[in-house]
Amino acid sequence: MIQQPVSTPWQVPWPEGTIARYWTVAGATVDLTDNGRAGSRRYDTKCTGCPHEDSFKFEDSAHRQAQAHAERCRALPRPEVTP
Ligand SMILES: [Zn+2]
Repeated sequence: MIQQPVSTPWQVPWPEGTIARYWTVAGATVDLTDNGRAGSRRYDTKCTGCPHEDSFKFEDSAHRQAQAHAERCRALPRPEVTP
């Protein structure tokens, strides 16, 4: 029997610059990226389930916010293939 690949947030390739990924209660992800820019908006968080995104100066703030959003967000991830 051939095993079908199962798509989970830790198996799909992470986008360039992604340094952390939080799994939401609905199965979407909140991605944390380091955009490399100096200044107050270096760490970006972006939810793949809803339009939520934000930017932070400090990495630990971004982690906390990504974790908090992942615990609350119930938006389903958009399917990659639409029939
Ligand atoms: Zn969300």
